[in-house]
Amino acid sequence: MIYHMFGKITLSIIKPDAVKKGHCSSILSQIVSAGFDIIALKMTELSKNSAIRFYEEHKEKYFFESLVKFMSSGPIVSILLEKENAVKDFRILIGDTNPINAEKGTIRHRYATSLEKNAIHGSDSNQNAFKECQFFFPSREIFSKKDKNFL
Ligand code: UDP
Ligand code: MG
Repeated sequence: MIYHMFGKITLSIIKPDAVKKGHCSSILSQIVSAGFDIIALKMTELSKNSAIRFYEEHKEKYFFESLVKFMSSGPIVSILLEKENAVKDFRILIGDTNPINAEKGTIRHRYATSLEKNAIHGSDSNQNAFKECQFFFPSREIFSKKDKNFL
């Protein structure tokens, strides 16, 4: 169980645009340099239905259909990250949803090409981080250095 990590984890996804362009290693390196521990990671693919489930909160928005199509258009890398204040600090690291407004040096400023194809996802609350973590990772796939049984 990861419940004891509530408040210290965030879920990220390197989106299909950034995976296709070969930005995974640069993005992961920037994340680790910023002090986040990778405690779970996998390359996977979202079916249309899983993308619908993942972005359910946006189902009434005008961009929903296009977003679902984009997110299921190719491989993604999903990553569980651990850090104090993980959710907030990670949102700062990735920058604004719209790359036009993203601060220089943020991941979206560097790698996003549009409001939709913005390279990376980051959870927006501790509650959602927990939900999104469960969406991708069973507890046997999570390895925190802070757990006693970590080698
Ligand atoms: N998005 C879009 N058009 C919009 C707003 C969002 O295509 O007007 C996409 C974009 O890929 C964004 C995702 O939908 O990352 C989820 O939107 P949200 O508002 O949750 O932004 P985020 O939390 O990812 O910054
Ligand atoms: Mg969001």
